[in-house]
Amino acid sequence: MTFDPTALNTREACVAADRADPLSGFRDEFALPEGVIYLDGNSLGALPRAAGERAREVLAREWGEDLIASWNTHHWFELPVRIGEKIGRLIGGHGGGCVATDTTSINVFKALAAALRLQREDRPERRVIVSERENFPTDLYMAEGLIEILDDGYELRLIDDEAGLEASLSDEVAVVMLTHVNYRSGRMWEMDRVTRLVHEAGALIVWDLCHSAGAVPVDLTAASADFAVGCTYKYLNGGPGSPAFIWAANRHLPRVEQPLSGWWGHRAPFDMAVGYAAAEGAAKFLCGTQPILSLATMEVGIDIALRADPEALREKSLALTSLFIALVEERLAAHPLTLITPRDSEHRGSHVSFRHPEGFAVMKALIAEGVIGDYREPEVLRFGFTPLYVGFADVWDAVEAFRRVLDEELWRAPEFAVRGAVT
Ligand SMILES: *Cc1c(COP(=O)(O)O)cnc(C)c1O
Repeated sequence: MTFDPTALNTREACVAADRADPLSGFRDEFALPEGVIYLDGNSLGALPRAAGERAREVLAREWGEDLIASWNTHHWFELPVRIGEKIGRLIGGHGGGCVATDTTSINVFKALAAALRLQREDRPERRVIVSERENFPTDLYMAEGLIEILDDGYELRLIDDEAGLEASLSDEVAVVMLTHVNYRSGRMWEMDRVTRLVHEAGALIVWDLCHSAGAVPVDLTAASADFAVGCTYKYLNGGPGSPAFIWAANRHLPRVEQPLSGWWGHRAPFDMAVGYAAAEGAAKFLCGTQPILSLATMEVGIDIALRADPEALREKSLALTSLFIALVEERLAAHPLTLITPRDSEHRGSHVSFRHPEGFAVMKALIAEGVIGDYREPEVLRFGFTPLYVGFADVWDAVEAFRRVLDEELWRAPEFAVRGAVT
């Protein structure tokens, strides 16, 4: 089916669109609290109902009864590879290997180090890493830390836009590290085109898919990408702090070396050999003992994502974000809101951000009204639309609550000025 956001100009039309939505059955698979419209799945995905049962099974049966035997009998040891393969299917990873492990930050470090190492062999004089000033800061922090310990003249250069990227691609550049969908603006790079440009310049690319996996179509193999990382607790609904993933193309994997050479990445960990010998395939990206409880519960979210048709997800996601933008601009036109997300759907992920001078208090007031989005510096109100469990009537109701908060200046209440540790 095709959604026409301009036809959704009444709440009834939105309810009807939800009824006709081929993905509507997924909503019941998530435990969303009554009276809440959850537009923050781009920060922490909702709880799949089946995850609770899976967690109880792992605790009571696998850990509680079968104890250490579970590493073999319940296949705990293979979990990172098994789930990695599933994630690979969601991101067009068949032309490479993927494991679920560690955090995105740590995987950025490993992927970047591995890419630089390949370039040291192939193009040894290149010493520049290019990334984006607007990138999620941890990606840049990890690059800084890596450059520091390499202590060999490496340099991080930051670009601001596509023109800046093209201008930066000199023969000094070893690796380009970009986030496919920007965490703040929701802007999406053209993965195929950008990867081609980077390769033409003799550089390798590391794609961060944190705001892409489970939200927008990704085909790493078709794009001929080199490395990718991303998290699973956003659109893949893996749970708070669930392990991230790391992927490398098959053409690189045999030569890939990563510096966190712990025993889980060894080709025969239980030989307890002196001296490291990397596993074959993506398992070489593993480091130490994995968080089995998190992996087991996160697999539930991954399995749900695997059942959803990616084309239908993208179509609905764009319809939801287009509708939200249209309704906010029409119904909240009197307020100082500035859209910072691309209007052009080709370049949009699955979230929408508006700036408002009182953004922080406005978001707090909106949350008090039952519409959960989040706030990002500076002044940015961010709304994530996970097509698996957000519907068109939710969008309608969220915009109405947003309008109340602004028209009635509910955000002026003093309690909405207080900041917690996490925003
Ligand atoms: C969410 C996000 C992260 C989070 O990294 P963690 O190591 O999981 O805390 C990193 N990079 C990007 C681009 C993100 O959106």
